[in-house]
Amino acid sequence: MFLTKPNTSCSDGAALSAAKFIPYGRQSIDAEDIAAVVAALQSDYLTTGPMVEAFEQAFAHATGAEHAVSCNSGTAALHLAALAFDLQPGDAVVVPTLTFLATANVVRMCGADVVFSDVDPHTGLVTATALEEALARVPAGKSVRAAFPVHLNGQVCDMEALSRVAVEAGIEMVEDACHALGAPGIGATKYSQMACFSTHAVKAVATGEGGVVTTADAERARRMRSLRSHGILRDPDRFRQCELAFNRGTWNPWYYEMQEIGWNYRMPDILCALGMSQLKKLDEFSRRRREIAALYDELLRPLFPAIQSVPHGQDGHGWHLYAVLVDFAGFGISRGGAMERLRAAGVGTQVHYLPVHRQPYYRGLYGDLHLPGADSYYERCLSLPFFPAMSNDDVKRVVTALRELAG
Ligand SMILES: *Cc1c(COP(=O)(O)O)cnc(C)c1O
Repeated sequence: MFLTKPNTSCSDGAALSAAKFIPYGRQSIDAEDIAAVVAALQSDYLTTGPMVEAFEQAFAHATGAEHAVSCNSGTAALHLAALAFDLQPGDAVVVPTLTFLATANVVRMCGADVVFSDVDPHTGLVTATALEEALARVPAGKSVRAAFPVHLNGQVCDMEALSRVAVEAGIEMVEDACHALGAPGIGATKYSQMACFSTHAVKAVATGEGGVVTTADAERARRMRSLRSHGILRDPDRFRQCELAFNRGTWNPWYYEMQEIGWNYRMPDILCALGMSQLKKLDEFSRRRREIAALYDELLRPLFPAIQSVPHGQDGHGWHLYAVLVDFAGFGISRGGAMERLRAAGVGTQVHYLPVHRQPYYRGLYGDLHLPGADSYYERCLSLPFFPAMSNDDVKRVVTALRELAG
């Protein structure tokens, strides 16, 4: 489906029309990345080796975090974060409904309940007002423990305002920063307890699958490293069964302890090596993404108000997705029809996201909720092709195809 014509000598966008399909997102893997993976494959470790710690340190450095805990998906990162504050049945977490499934699903994986918040209809982001409104809807008898703000598209939520509400309510904040790696300050957890990232193929740095939790809390970082590996503890100071652990004061070399249930959420050395190599290019990827975004802004301006870019916000941007809000009815075309026409013109698009409360699983649990901001954003949103390897001509082709929708 994502065919690229092998003719690479043809870099002029106009000449390529309909020749090259532009997907909505694509990883950038170069010879250095491949060499890093090959070196890891030839090393003594494929699973947990020196690359894990090296990747975690590089990630902490890149985000300004105290601790970075790697794991094998963004979903695992969110799950570990929830486990790290002991989320359990009887608890509730506020999750904006305009997100990927995993943000809500990890709450259910802990047996706790999701309280879906609405979002701003223009940005798709949870606001302090929307958080307050959701907190007021927490069912009696449930103990609300946290809010999971989502930096949709890479736009940064107003964390300072959200944290005022969270502190007032006495709850944790865990950022779903899967779209926001590279945004200024994201990962440093100034206004939150933890931030979760994904290194899935389409995200800012790609390892295929992978995830990271950042936190300033050393004890939680330690616990998440244990939870990602079956709950295993190897720190003799923490052992409870001294008679099994020690023989006349000497640690039995085979002995480890499990004091709580854990998972296998480890990120392999091979992927950590790829992640290290990718992280070196994060600044360059971000720079190119900002450049492409600025070009889209400029070329789309004449199409306002029929097509408008999602506002970029005041607090920096991770530039994961470039989304527009389209008045499809005004064009006399359905969104599906528009996507088909764009596809025929070689332009891939996507919708991020169907509000999660409208999924059958959640409707079965919580019934039909009225979250008009999320519905309004959802009805109009469309993610355009956006990745560092796009050429300026690719961007122009996308905008031309959009303009032709109107005509
Ligand atoms: C990608 C993503 C996740 C999950 O990450 P995986 O690595 O695919 O498990 C969670 N939340 C958001 C907003 C995402 O975009």
